[in-house]
Amino acid sequence: MQCCESINCLDKGMICIPETELPRVVVVGGGFAGLNVIKGLKNLPLQVVLIDRNNFHQFLPLLYQVATSGIEPDNIVFPYRKLFEKYRNVVFRMAEVTHMDTAHNKLSTNIGVVHYDYLVLACGSKTNFFGNTDFENFGSGLNSVTDALDIRSRLLQNLEKAAVTCIEDEKRELSSVAIVGGGATGVEIAGALAEFKRYILPKDYPELKSVEMKIYLIEATGRLLQAMPEKLSEKTLHYLSRMNVDVLLNTSVNSFDGKKVVLAGEKSLSATTFIWTAGVKGDIVKGLPSESIGRQNRILTDDFGRISTLNNVFAIGDNAFIKTHTNPHGHPMIAQPAIQQGKTLATNLMKMIRKQPLIPFQYKNKGSMATIGKKKAVASIQGFAFSGKKAWFIWSFIHLVSLIGFRNKIMVAINWIWSYFTYDKGNRVIIRRYKQEVLKEGKILE
Ligand SMILES: Cc1cc2nc3c(=O)[nH]c(=O)nc-3n(C[C@H](O)[C@H](O)[C@H](O)COP(=O)(O)OP(=O)(O)OC[C@H]3O[C@@H](n4cnc5c(N)ncnc54)[C@H](O)[C@@H]3O)c2cc1C
Repeated sequence: MQCCESINCLDKGMICIPETELPRVVVVGGGFAGLNVIKGLKNLPLQVVLIDRNNFHQFLPLLYQVATSGIEPDNIVFPYRKLFEKYRNVVFRMAEVTHMDTAHNKLSTNIGVVHYDYLVLACGSKTNFFGNTDFENFGSGLNSVTDALDIRSRLLQNLEKAAVTCIEDEKRELSSVAIVGGGATGVEIAGALAEFKRYILPKDYPELKSVEMKIYLIEATGRLLQAMPEKLSEKTLHYLSRMNVDVLLNTSVNSFDGKKVVLAGEKSLSATTFIWTAGVKGDIVKGLPSESIGRQNRILTDDFGRISTLNNVFAIGDNAFIKTHTNPHGHPMIAQPAIQQGKTLATNLMKMIRKQPLIPFQYKNKGSMATIGKKKAVASIQGFAFSGKKAWFIWSFIHLVSLIGFRNKIMVAINWIWSYFTYDKGNRVIIRRYKQEVLKEGKILE
C-alpha cells in the first residue's frame, strides 16, 4: 500500500495519509463530539482521518481541578494514538486546520493539505472575551489543559510574590482572585479555591496569615447557575457564602489592568489573579460562507448536523447550532449534546454511503450538575433537584466513569479519596512559569 495520497505528496503539499479506495471521512477535533463519531465508525468500510491540534483528548469538566492543584493534568487527558490502536480504519494526524475549501473538498493545515469525501467539523468552542483584550492579556480563560496550567502557575506565582512582600495591601492583592461568570465553571473554581484557602493556604503559606485571601465570584445577572432551577441557584449561593466566597450578583466588570477590577458603577476591587468564565463561542475553521455562521459563532446546520448548502460537510458539538423549528435556540454547549450528536452522525454517515434515509438528531436532556466543594453539589436530573451529599456523590460517580482510560479513573479516584480524608490536595508545583509575565510598564512578555 502506498503511504501517501500521491507519490509526490510532499512536493504537492499533501499530508502523508495511506491511499485508499474507501470513502474518506475527515474529522476535525477529537473532543466529545469527534470521538463519538469515530467510535461509531470503528472498523467499518471507510477511512477515518482524525486531525487535532493536540495529540490527546481532554476531559474539560475537570479542568478546574487541574487549575486549582486538585489533580494532575495527565489524569484528565488521553492520547489519540493509544485510544485508536485497535481501530484498523483510523489515521491520526496532529495538525492545526487553518482553512477549508468546500468547493474542492480539501482542508489546509499547518502540515499540509488533506482531501475528504465527508468532512466533520467538531472543533468545540473557545473563551469569548467579547473583544476585551485586557481581560485576555491580563487574565485567563479556562478552556484547555494549557489554560488550566496557566491559571495554576499564575495563582501559585502570585502567592509566592505575596509571601515575600512586606506591604500588607500588596499581600492581599497578590493573593486575591476574581472569577467572572457565575455558571458551572465559575462556581466550581470558586468552591475549589475556597477549600484551598481554608485547608492549604495556612499550612503552605504561613507568611500570609496576616491578610485575608479574597475570592470574588462576579455575575452580571441576578443568580448563579442560570441553567438550573432557582432553588439550586439559591443553594449554591448559600454554600459559597458559607465558604467565605464574596459573590457579587447583578455586577458586571468594566475593566481589569492586572491588579484592579473595575466594576459597573465605578466600584472596584483588588485582585491579581483574574479568571474569565463568562462566555464561550464556537472555535470555527475559516472558509465557510458567513450565512452559515449563527449565534455564538456556531455553524448553522439542519437536524442531521449538515450544513444545508453543502451535502458532505457536517458540524457537531459546541461547533454546531442545529437550528430547527423544534430547537430554535440551539443545544446547550455541554458534553451530552456533543456525545449524542457524534453517535447520530456516525449512523447517518453509514446511511448516506448506503444511500438510505437519514435520521434527524433528537436531544435527550440528561440534566446538569455542578460541585461546590466536599459533600456540596447541586444536580437537576429528569425534573428532580438534589443538593448536598447525594448530589456530590452522583457528580463524583458520573465524572469518574466518564473519564477516558482505566488508569485515569483510578488515579483521580485515589486523589479524591486522599483529599476527602486528609483535606490535602495534589502537589502545588509550578512546572512551568505562567506564560505571560506582566511587567510594571504594562508590557506583555512570552
Ligand atoms: C472548564 C469547562 C468545564 C466544563 N464542564 C462541563 C461539565 O461539567 N459538564 C458538561 O456537560 N459540559 C462541560 N463543559 C462543556 C463541554 O466540555 C463541551 O461542551 C464539550 O467538550 C464539547 O465537545 P466538542 O467535541 O464539541 O468540543 P471539545 O471537547 O472542545 O473538542 C474540540 C477539539 O477540537 C480540537 N480543535 C479545535 N480547533 C481545531 C483546529 N483548528 N485544528 C485542529 N484541531 C482543532 C481541539 O484541540 C479539541 O480537541 C465544560 C467546558 C469547560 C471549558
